[in-house]
Amino acid sequence: MNHHVLIAGAGPVGLVSALVLATAGVQVTVFERALSAPEDLRASTFHPPTLDMLARFGISDELLPQGLVARYTQQRDRQEGLVAQFDMSLLAGLTQHPYRLQCEQWKLNKLLLDRLAKIPHAKVLLGAELQSVEQNANGVDVKVDVRGDVQTFKGDYLIGADGAWSSVRQSQGIEFEGFTYPERFLVVSTAFEFADHLPKLSYVNYVSDPQEWCVLLRVPTLWRVLFPTHPEESDEAVMTDESIQARLQNLLPQDKPYQTVHRTLYKVHQRVAKQFRRGRVLLAGDAAHINNPLGGMGMNGGVHDAFSLADKLVDILVSGADEALLDRYERQRRSVAIEYINANTARNKKNMEERNPEARRKTHDELRATAANPDAARNYLRKTSMMDALERAEAIE
Ligand SMILES: Cc1cc2nc3c(=O)[nH]c(=O)nc-3n(C[C@H](O)[C@H](O)[C@H](O)COP(=O)(O)OP(=O)(O)OC[C@H]3O[C@@H](n4cnc5c(N)ncnc54)[C@H](O)[C@@H]3O)c2cc1C
Repeated sequence: MNHHVLIAGAGPVGLVSALVLATAGVQVTVFERALSAPEDLRASTFHPPTLDMLARFGISDELLPQGLVARYTQQRDRQEGLVAQFDMSLLAGLTQHPYRLQCEQWKLNKLLLDRLAKIPHAKVLLGAELQSVEQNANGVDVKVDVRGDVQTFKGDYLIGADGAWSSVRQSQGIEFEGFTYPERFLVVSTAFEFADHLPKLSYVNYVSDPQEWCVLLRVPTLWRVLFPTHPEESDEAVMTDESIQARLQNLLPQDKPYQTVHRTLYKVHQRVAKQFRRGRVLLAGDAAHINNPLGGMGMNGGVHDAFSLADKLVDILVSGADEALLDRYERQRRSVAIEYINANTARNKKNMEERNPEARRKTHDELRATAANPDAARNYLRKTSMMDALERAEAIE
């Protein structure tokens, strides 16, 4: 084995990159700071093109029975109820998977780890924290603390897939341009069956409201409800039982308190790294761009980065393509992160929290008209499913 790619981070982006490279015969070593693969509730939506990409390795077929097929997505309003429903089967013929798969992100990670464990030239080191990076014309050296033992690893390239606080990005002094929203987002999970109380609810529901918008997302065993919080509320105040119950009761009053299973409060940012490539060091996924979760574009966009980047590295290392391909990776994926992922998620938030009644009515009228016209609805779904973003990336030389 002549080539070796180092990857920081065993999230979906690092692991997909590793699988693409290792399947093509490239040696890979993945460094993951955590001691075991976390099973936390983070992203839970797989868009059609992401499933198409993962199908290359048979992973979509393994993921499907572990999730829920969402044929419909809905735009709702707290006062009006259902505003518009979009039927994703309109995408039939444009994708092998004309639906969203509602499935927890950790299930993908687990499938990827199982696949990598069967490839002798793929190594995933858990409890391995990348500490420093040096590169020259011939390769990259990294120092990694492997369970207390600091070791040096050498590779041809390093992929920084080490999440929003990426040490790899920081090691290269790459700016993470953008902003942090003043409010944090709260995600509460409950086994309460909202569909029994809200008529015609789908598995994916974006609910606008000038006071407190929310998102209702179904995963196999739970409903996840996402709320914004007020910037002046302290973390402690948001996370009390009283405050969580008040938010849920305000959404749907019940005689009994809601039983909750998880609650997470997190900061939300719209940021894109100034560079996705510095020499032999490349950034992908949250290390390269982060955004609000309204539209489910974070993990999906990261997986799209991983396929784009790893396929190019295979072309370079295995087929002898010119290294300039990596500049194309930056042009393609950085443009998409700015023009599509960040722009659409920011617009989604703005529409959901709109306070001006005239502007809200206009948005709702547009949504109704779009849903009623199959061609317009298909175009809308191509955009919200990130198919347009991938087409745009493909057009960039
Ligand atoms: C609470 C929460 C909810 C979310 N909800 C959604 C959602 O609903 N929809 C959506 O699309 N997205 C959502 N996201 C975003 C989504 O989870 C991310 O976009 C996705 O995980 C990005 O994958 P990644 O592989 O780039 O990074 P990560 O999944 O963050 O993986 C990075 C990995 O790198 C490891 N690491 C970090 N530093 C080092 C180091 N120095 N050395 C070695 N390893 C290191 C970390 O331990 C981690 O395992 C959510 C994120 C959070 C935090």
